[in-house]
Amino acid sequence: MSGPRSGSVKHVTSTANPLMKAVRALHQRKARVESGLFLAEGHKLVIDALAAGWTPTMIVAMEPATAAVSELAARVRALGADVVFANAAVMEKVARRENPQTVIGVFEQHLADPAKMAEGTIIALEEPRDPGNVGTIIRTADALGAAGVILIGSSADPFGVEAVRATMGSIFHVPLARVEREDFVRFAARRAGPLIGTHLAGSVDIRTVEPSGSQILLMGTEQSGLTEELAARCDVLVRIPMAGKADSFNLAIATAIGLYELRRPTL
Ligand code: SAM
Repeated sequence: MSGPRSGSVKHVTSTANPLMKAVRALHQRKARVESGLFLAEGHKLVIDALAAGWTPTMIVAMEPATAAVSELAARVRALGADVVFANAAVMEKVARRENPQTVIGVFEQHLADPAKMAEGTIIALEEPRDPGNVGTIIRTADALGAAGVILIGSSADPFGVEAVRATMGSIFHVPLARVEREDFVRFAARRAGPLIGTHLAGSVDIRTVEPSGSQILLMGTEQSGLTEELAARCDVLVRIPMAGKADSFNLAIATAIGLYELRRPTL
């Protein structure tokens, strides 16, 4: 039986090349929404993606290519991905930065169905606005073995370049879902474990919460915290004790502390 068709190979030297313009446009949310694609920058990230079973639709690779880049190009071509070799000027333009990575992968976005997420702890984020926070939380979810991350309502795009960069490859490992608030409420009510909201006015110290098999850790938005609507749906509202003058933790830090507490017995 033959495998997938080998991808094509092109060499691009002009920064005005239309294909490269289309790849560069993926820095913008509109183009990502329209195409369903996203960028992952870096040789290591593309290798991580392959290891996790994600095949790029295309890679853009720096020319002249190192042995490692040529090897990766051959590998993704054999899986059906197209390869574009581009000079440093084109790479800089596509990456929108000086000293770009030697490889930029173009991938299809994949979202999970929350109902199909495995047993275990799910992190749910109500309208997170900062892509760096979203990426860092996906990385933390991966590191601490969460079952998935759910983005509720209008959130920063997890497939934006800044968010993907902050995941350090975990975007390829963590089931990720996006839902409207009403759908989240329905999902949380059906899931066996408790909905644990984090709140500055929470009446329960998170260190006293008994971890369960399928809990959801719900985090509020950076500016204003959890909406009353979602706070009212929680089985418990927990606070993370603080000592100094800061009025709260950064969202990604609070998520890491909360998830660590809930996952501690399993680590
Ligand atoms: N001014 C916001 C407020 O009143 O909630 C601060 C939001 S905080 C930057 C972002 C989120 O991190 C919060 O909604 C909550 O989920 C979590 N968080 C931060 N510090 C926390 C703490 N000490 N206890 C519980 N949750 C906390």
